[in-house]
Amino acid sequence: MTPAEGVREREEREAQQEQDALALAAAAGIHRLAIPTPFMVGRVNAYLIEDSPLTLVDSGPNSAKALDELEQALAIHGHAVEDIELLVITHQHMDHFGLASILARRSGAEVAALSALAPFLASYGHQTDLEDRFAERMMLRHGIPPEIVTALRAVSAGFRAWGEAVEVTRPLQADTHLELRDRKLRVLHRPGHSPSDTIFLDEANSILLTADHLIANISSNPLLSRPLDAEEEYSSPPSPRPQALITYMDSLRKTREMELAVALPGHGGPVIDHVALIDQRLRLHERRAEKIRRLIASEPRTAHEIAQEMWGNVAVTQAYLTLSEVIGHVDLLLRDGQVIEDEHDGVVLLRAV
Ligand SMILES: [Zn+2]
Repeated sequence: MTPAEGVREREEREAQQEQDALALAAAAGIHRLAIPTPFMVGRVNAYLIEDSPLTLVDSGPNSAKALDELEQALAIHGHAVEDIELLVITHQHMDHFGLASILARRSGAEVAALSALAPFLASYGHQTDLEDRFAERMMLRHGIPPEIVTALRAVSAGFRAWGEAVEVTRPLQADTHLELRDRKLRVLHRPGHSPSDTIFLDEANSILLTADHLIANISSNPLLSRPLDAEEEYSSPPSPRPQALITYMDSLRKTREMELAVALPGHGGPVIDHVALIDQRLRLHERRAEKIRRLIASEPRTAHEIAQEMWGNVAVTQAYLTLSEVIGHVDLLLRDGQVIEDEHDGVVLLRAV
């Protein structure tokens, strides 16, 4: 067997495993509907649960194209938007909930989400302003030049309309059940990628809806975000800083303990072996922290300089994403006493201990 044949065989085997996993979910009445988004991540997965109430987990973004494709995908399963009785929102990112308001209006569906997320969703526009201001402060504090921060503000404003405020009519508590006729969905809070990440376990079928908490082919970025319970005027500099990556890794370890038949993510294909994938992710973050430690040891730098060193121009075009990634790993190094933060004129320089 040539190496190329080996690769092809593995790809075919993996494709088959994905098909089998989706078929297993479909047999349990859970169908993946891949909805287009304008974002780099590509399509977002909504999941139709054929049960009573007829349930849709996540909606896709607020766009005519997303709505059109969602309607077509529902029709394949013999349903229309008007049939939806319960909408479940997994977290606060617009590619996941943007259409929820329109769907709820058209169908009269109840909207379920973590109760701590409800105020955010109700005042989405205002919350996004607060998020943007928080992000700007973090970017300036960690060495991103003001002109890049200004440019990114315009980018963020341009994307705003892909989300829309929605009222949560069925607030959920973590570690309780969302009861449908044929199944119970266990509600689990797994913050890290965002403060509100919620995953849902169909206990009888051992099927986990993971949203962006765990994705098969991309590592979920632990985005720096205001805490859900933050005061309106969250302190400047934000203190204590939210520790998105440390929180995320703790959440991953909890999910690792679960017994699952399959995990269905918010983007891309199903996760077949969640334990192996989580171990891979945890190792990736340890390695990346060590790489960042070495960069800091060779020369004191800002988080933005580290991002540039690691990702080149992407650290400019995706400045907040890459900054979040670096700061997440710096949090690991701070926790372990390997680096310190040294502030000059409001900008943080990182030094090795
Ligand atoms: Zn997300």
